[in-house]
Amino acid sequence: MTDRWSPRVTRVLAPNPSPLTLEGTNTFVVAEPGAASVVVIDPGPDDQGHAGAVVRACGGRPVELVLLTHTHVDHAEGARGFAGRVGAPLAAIAPGWATAGAPDLGAGVPVAVAGLELLPLPTPGHAADHCCFELAADRAVFTGDHVLGRGTTVVEWPGGDMADYLASLDLLRRRRPERLYPGHGPLVGDAVARVEGYIAHRRDREAQVLAAVAAGDRTPGEIVARVYAAVDPALHPAAELSVRAHLAKLAADGRVTADDRGERFFPSAP
Ligand SMILES: [Zn+2]
Repeated sequence: MTDRWSPRVTRVLAPNPSPLTLEGTNTFVVAEPGAASVVVIDPGPDDQGHAGAVVRACGGRPVELVLLTHTHVDHAEGARGFAGRVGAPLAAIAPGWATAGAPDLGAGVPVAVAGLELLPLPTPGHAADHCCFELAADRAVFTGDHVLGRGTTVVEWPGGDMADYLASLDLLRRRRPERLYPGHGPLVGDAVARVEGYIAHRRDREAQVLAAVAAGDRTPGEIVARVYAAVDPALHPAAELSVRAHLAKLAADGRVTADDRGERFFPSAP
């Protein structure tokens, strides 16, 4: 499915729905109206039908650059193949992914492409190599898996980091966007409220994890069974990774103590 999210932004939905990817991955074709070229964000899974739909959405305009929000397979598996097919450089924060001619996304300067400017916002947390892209012309941010169109995202221990994630949510909040273009799910119109809701959700979960340890839960599995009792069991393995990310932050903060193997957790002495 292909639809317009703004005069500058076309979304092409990839056919990879799942509990974690919602309806599938959103691939974006972005250009200033009237520009001679486009930029593509997150080509998505390695699927020839999807790649063909993205090429059609480009409307015959050359692809000037391919950008990745992060290198998880549902965003990046098809990226090298797509960039090669359209003859464009591939840019990503992750080491070893950028190709010749790609801009440095860590430089803190906007990337001028397809008649507009995209400001990379390095946002580690969901993944260490995560980067959002601010499209000031739309007062919008492409958020990848940092903030989704619906529900909450997974901070996958050990690749993800909860302290980094909270800092990256605060960075996004301070940009004061009006709209979010997430990597999964629909366009978010109440952007700052959504980001503040994500921050509150993580603070709540942290308090729940701390309370579970205080109540006698020792393992991440026990904590998930208590804290995520209302959540679809199919999501419990993913929830356990988020609980482990919370426990790692709480241990670093000195609020819980882990055993030598990092499998059992105890309240820290006051
Ligand atoms: Zn994803």
